[in-house]
Amino acid sequence: MAQSGNQENRASRVSAAAHGDRYALAAEGANDALWDWDLKAGRVLYSPRWAAMLGLTAEALSATSEAWLGRVHPADIDALRRAIDALIGGGARRLEHEQRLRHADGTYRWMLARAVALRGADGIALRIAGSQTDVTDRHWQREQLEYDAFHDGLTGLSNRALFLDRLGQAVAMARRRHAQGCAVLALGVDRFKLVNDSLGHAAGDEFLSVLARRLEGCLRDGDTLARVGGDEFAILTEQADGLDQVMAIAERANAILATPIVLDEQDIFASVGIGIAVATPRLRNPEDLLRDAFLALYRAKAMGTGRVEMFDQGLHARAVKRLKLESDLRHALERDEIDAHYQPIVALDTGRIVGFEALARWTHGERGSVSPAEFIPPAEETGLIVQIGRKVLTTAARQLVAWQRAGLAAPEMMINVNVSAKQFSQSDLAGEIRDILAATGLAPARLKLELTESVLMENPELAQSILEKVRQMGVRLCVDDFGTGYSSLSYLHRFPIDSLKIERSFIARIAERQSERTLIKTIVDLGQALDLEVVAEGIETHEQRRQLLALKCRLGQGYLFAKPMPGEEVGALLAKVRSGASLFPPENPPLTVTAITA
Ligand code: C2E
Ligand code: MG
Ligand code: MG
Repeated sequence: MAQSGNQENRASRVSAAAHGDRYALAAEGANDALWDWDLKAGRVLYSPRWAAMLGLTAEALSATSEAWLGRVHPADIDALRRAIDALIGGGARRLEHEQRLRHADGTYRWMLARAVALRGADGIALRIAGSQTDVTDRHWQREQLEYDAFHDGLTGLSNRALFLDRLGQAVAMARRRHAQGCAVLALGVDRFKLVNDSLGHAAGDEFLSVLARRLEGCLRDGDTLARVGGDEFAILTEQADGLDQVMAIAERANAILATPIVLDEQDIFASVGIGIAVATPRLRNPEDLLRDAFLALYRAKAMGTGRVEMFDQGLHARAVKRLKLESDLRHALERDEIDAHYQPIVALDTGRIVGFEALARWTHGERGSVSPAEFIPPAEETGLIVQIGRKVLTTAARQLVAWQRAGLAAPEMMINVNVSAKQFSQSDLAGEIRDILAATGLAPARLKLELTESVLMENPELAQSILEKVRQMGVRLCVDDFGTGYSSLSYLHRFPIDSLKIERSFIARIAERQSERTLIKTIVDLGQALDLEVVAEGIETHEQRRQLLALKCRLGQGYLFAKPMPGEEVGALLAKVRSGASLFPPENPPLTVTAITA
């Protein structure tokens, strides 16, 4: 319909053009209004439609140019006058101009005026005449689109693009004035995921809206607040002449959550972490400044909740190094540079090897061996741990089966493999384990997964459901680094656990400190009461071994017996101990280490 109307319009315009300008303009379309300005007489005729468009009656409209120009928005009047002058003077052949006109209801409407001039023989304009179209809707849509492109739909705050634009202007201005410049505060809600997961996304959205309003209350005139990510906000404060001012904003932002946010009649106590980056006199581009503020924020979050951290160059250097490590790690997986080493777990009294812990090893092309302490944390953050975990598990399972087949390991020897939190949330862990066991031929009961307390507590429901499945297959479970994490022991009942591995730092201090011995004794008793196997980690001296035995801890691993070593070396060791050789430096009386073999 609209299309055929347009076609008609176009057709009438074309044919009318032959009849002269006046008719052409008259035929512009029923929706348009017409006007005709006699320049000599100074009279303007307006069509009834022109008056109606502005909520007026034809009678209420005087036949003067003032009836039009007097209604134009002050911001638009100069440009309109210039356009009219250009048409009259002959500088422009046509007038085509949009301006806001005041409606009878007091609001402004966007009008498009189009006109031509009718000239005498001498070329002097006698009349100008044209049409007027209401283009308010189109304007509104365009403004809305522009607004949407630069604002966050949920909170109505500026978005990242607008923030970066403002930041760019602030940096440029400071550079011109050689002034101190500006600072960026990056804010992130601590544990926002918890709000979202426990109360649902609608509540999460409401939380963010309330937070946005509260943050607005922390600003000074001229500061810009933006939502730049899911639960991430940024504040730009200009002319930050002293750090004190910036810190004052940070403190206010920190304090606004002292009063809980009420959602679904529940008080939500939350906190924000804040990272600050200050523009330096060196040229800084806005993206860098925002990134630096976020690097500081991530450090603040890593250090706890409700923290404020300043960016420094060291942080940048570390981030660059980390990025390089990540990309190297991806390559390492492609090039198969990740392997497993094995450390024996032994009976502390007889030295008999009861199993091995598989530990990931990365042999880097240039750097040689890279410690898991260095590459496991970034692998966890990036999710690469899922692939690493799969690789270590497969390698270790295959290795134990090979030792069993070679007659080096008894059927009851165990292999322990470490599992990270991400492997629970980002993969079908139970399914993967089942597949790997099937592919390698390892009996489920020979595999033990090592999980830290934080892995169990990060998402207890998920961990519980997966671990129950895994345990049902017959796979065993061990809490690693026991004693360092949550003080609540309730989870020991909740999860189907078989063993506890006492954190290495307790063993290191066992000889000197009674408190450490008491703690270890408590863990051993707890294990006994709950029917859990207890293993000591990081045993380096005979003294530690003896103390542990005295505390009735019967299993352990550590450099005293063997360091983690490649599979081939373990094969040789297993062959050696089978013939009665000792695993560790001779003691008086010597202790014999044996392996359980078929
Ligand atoms: P963890 O699971 O607690 O492993 C024990 C760590 O203690 C190993 O460090 C081992 O080499 C070290 N260790 C063993 N005996 C002694 C000793 O007598 N003295 C001292 N000072 N240290 C000893 P490693 O191999 O550097 O691994 C560090 C951590 O990295 C592991 O701690 C584990 O949390 C993680 N990790 C290693 N491999 C993997 C893996 O395949 N997957 C996952 N998710 N994490 C892994
Ligand atoms: Mg471990
Ligand atoms: Mg450990």
